[in-house]
Amino acid sequence: MSSSKNTCQAVLKPDGSKNMTNKSAGVKKALKNLIKRCLQSDTATNQKLDSSNTELNNLILTDFTTLPLAIQQSGVISIVEFAGTKFKVFATSGQQYLNYISNGIVKKLLNYLPSLERIIICEEKYAFTPNDFKANTRQKRKKKEKVTISHLKEDQEIVSSENFSKQAVVGTMAGKILISRYLATQMQHLKIKADLEINVDSEAYTSKCNCQKEHDESCSRYTVPVRVMYNKQTGYVKEGFIDEVKQRKGEAEMAQADWLLDADIRKSLGNGKCVVNYVTSADIDTVVIHILAVSQF
Ligand SMILES: [Zn+2]
Repeated sequence: MSSSKNTCQAVLKPDGSKNMTNKSAGVKKALKNLIKRCLQSDTATNQKLDSSNTELNNLILTDFTTLPLAIQQSGVISIVEFAGTKFKVFATSGQQYLNYISNGIVKKLLNYLPSLERIIICEEKYAFTPNDFKANTRQKRKKKEKVTISHLKEDQEIVSSENFSKQAVVGTMAGKILISRYLATQMQHLKIKADLEINVDSEAYTSKCNCQKEHDESCSRYTVPVRVMYNKQTGYVKEGFIDEVKQRKGEAEMAQADWLLDADIRKSLGNGKCVVNYVTSADIDTVVIHILAVSQF
């Protein structure tokens, strides 16, 4: 955790909505207790735990600036939750947004994890978010949102190689959807010179379905991630679809945890290799999702 102040937003009101305040430190406490109990069930470490919490403190890091050497050396795959990127970027054109991704995210990850071979970027998928959640966000926005004309902008004005309207991509549903689909279609414009595979898991490309008008509950549609290869010499090499992954997770964190269970990922992880899951948002509800995913192993 990049900060000891990380808390969790997963305390829900009875109607399923989230409180903006009242964040809870409970998940972090629960995580510590859980790991402690796992350690204690191992009798060999029992005595160590009685004398100090060193073992536990090595497993949960807060406020760190560099990753432990063991992770630096063994991190070959990184799965990145991408929903927070649009809030962090300062860009006035789509190309500047892409440059931020090349420099601020991919190169930074390569610095942290020099053994990295593959990055999987998980975007939010709005067409796959349950309607109840959408209705809730809409209501919250009605109350809080300042009056803007951002929602009247043309798609090309919101995001294109020449334009990038931050107000629209963070403040309007049309903008959020556009930016969540943008990267997957623009991978040839990333300036990356490294032997690296990048996958983008977003709703930019979806399968066909049989719905006549609006998509309903029975809709069988899924999204198809892209696989893009880069190398040291020329940068962008080629791209294609990952047809075997049929993704339907709306939340980026959900998709991120889902990739851990992917057969191809499991196969590429041998002894001394690890996956580093990177979450940019301040919430740690993702911890709960990840514990569930890891428990499947
Ligand atoms: Zn459909």
